[in-house]
Amino acid sequence: MNCKKCKGKLEVKRACRRVRLRCTLCFKEYQIHEVASELDGDTEKLLENYTAIIYD
Ligand SMILES: [Zn+2]
Repeated sequence: MNCKKCKGKLEVKRACRRVRLRCTLCFKEYQIHEVASELDGDTEKLLENYTAIIYD
């Protein structure tokens, strides 16, 4: 899963009860629903670890 702006790697970042994907290069944060249609398998697996998360 890569950033739409700079192609940097996105990492899953948990903050309180929300989860975001954040670029490790430019630090742009994406809400899950923004990238839901483009999630790759690895990222989906990571997100499955956050079952209690509210995807806002
Ligand atoms: Zn980026």
